[in-house]
Amino acid sequence: MTNQELTDQDKASQASAASTRNADITVIGAGIIGLANAIALQKAGFSVRVIDKQGVAAGASFGNAGHFATEQVFPLADPAMLPKLPGMLLDPLGPFRIQPRYFLKALPWFMRFLVNMLPAKRAHNSAAIKALNQKSIHAWQQLVSECGCSELLKLEGSLLVFEQTPFIEVERVYQSYRDAGVAVQLISGEEVRTLEPDLSPNINHGLWFTEVGHTPDPAELCHCLATQFEKLGGELVIGEVTRLANIGKGEQSVSVCVGEGVNYQSDKLLLSAGAWSKPLAQQLGFKVPLETERGYHLMMPQQSRLLRPVASFERKFIITPMSRGTCLAGTVEFGGLKAPLVEARADCLLPHAKALLPDVLASAKTSQGERWMGFRPSLPDSLPVLGASPKSDKIFFAFGHQHLGLTWAAFSAQLMAKTIKEEKTQVDITPYRIDRF
Ligand SMILES: Cc1cc2nc3c(=O)[nH]c(=O)nc-3n(C[C@H](O)[C@H](O)[C@H](O)COP(=O)(O)OP(=O)(O)OC[C@H]3O[C@@H](n4cnc5c(N)ncnc54)[C@H](O)[C@@H]3O)c2cc1C
Repeated sequence: MTNQELTDQDKASQASAASTRNADITVIGAGIIGLANAIALQKAGFSVRVIDKQGVAAGASFGNAGHFATEQVFPLADPAMLPKLPGMLLDPLGPFRIQPRYFLKALPWFMRFLVNMLPAKRAHNSAAIKALNQKSIHAWQQLVSECGCSELLKLEGSLLVFEQTPFIEVERVYQSYRDAGVAVQLISGEEVRTLEPDLSPNINHGLWFTEVGHTPDPAELCHCLATQFEKLGGELVIGEVTRLANIGKGEQSVSVCVGEGVNYQSDKLLLSAGAWSKPLAQQLGFKVPLETERGYHLMMPQQSRLLRPVASFERKFIITPMSRGTCLAGTVEFGGLKAPLVEARADCLLPHAKALLPDVLASAKTSQGERWMGFRPSLPDSLPVLGASPKSDKIFFAFGHQHLGLTWAAFSAQLMAKTIKEEKTQVDITPYRIDRF
């Protein structure tokens, strides 16, 4: 049949098939970032396929502390940590650790990290973090409501508690949040226990962040997003992406090779494979200094009366009330993607938690807890990579959300949907571009 012989109906259906192909996007990664992006893209009118090597919530998004931590406006690269750094790094159970055999590998990342401690860089990075934080809770309210799981977003604020820190230092910390525009109240130990009666009498002061939230189940939140994605017609493929082809300008479609040779074609590609994004970004022409900050949780079956996450200023960890129990989470460990979980790093959270929740955890044992380690995807400036590839109009990036991937997922997905649709974004996304390094 020649083109002239096509009926109007044929032409219409061909046009619609072509536009479906044009709109087709493959998202690599079914963590919180990939899933939130997939739904935002569906809402923007694209047909979307998500590919994950293990399935929904297989990475950091499974077991994070569940804290929508919009108060965390300061980049990790803080000159105040310099004097404490050697001691911290040498302590195998310290809150910030480099595994000795990983030291040389991590060195280039640390050199960049040190540069990001310079005041001008720190101010720039903090402003770019704040730009994402400010819209994050609202974006999450919209997303959980659309997905029918509003019960997975609790807006009770969070606490940062102090046991021995002198009041003058507590006031300094409080003032630094106030100066950064964070909604915070400085409260006494008594007031802390009025909010959270299970907390220890040894707590002398607290900062109450009133405009933050938490989820009682980060993995369930991912599954809820995945259900919505499939309801909207999305295709979820389980398989490891090994090779990307046809990625240059002017190619008809991107080819994503899964496993030993199944090829998935799509018009566009979004890379959101968390801490595993580095080699795939390299295939796409970008060398990014992405490291993983390994973090741990110990999920204790004991339930407390806590209504909100409680972080400890001195002990550097966080307790979050969750559906499955009391989640103790934290610690930063540089050791790469292959080294196994170090049980002692998860277990060392329990004595700290017992000090803060003495009655609830009095007889708790580490053997009752579920140990877990996840890979935070982190860049030395604490900013994610968001945006389009400067080398191809088909390639997009959303990875590197460090300690704040849960917090940023819904809003960064809105930004990406606008970017991919070539519409103006709500905030300037140039600070997050892939070629900033
Ligand atoms: C202990 C801990 C506590 C945390 N607490 C908080 C918190 O309270 N608040 C907060 O905002 N953030 C927190 N975070 C950070 C947050 O969990 C991460 O930033 C976020 O989960 C990153 O999401 P992601 O989707 O980018 O990555 P991931 O969840 O790791 O997902 C990446 C996915 O990509 C898949 N993948 C990788 N390579 C391939 C491939 N080649 N082919 C196919 N699929 C692939 C993986 O299987 C995985 O499912 C915490 C992290 C940790 C470890």
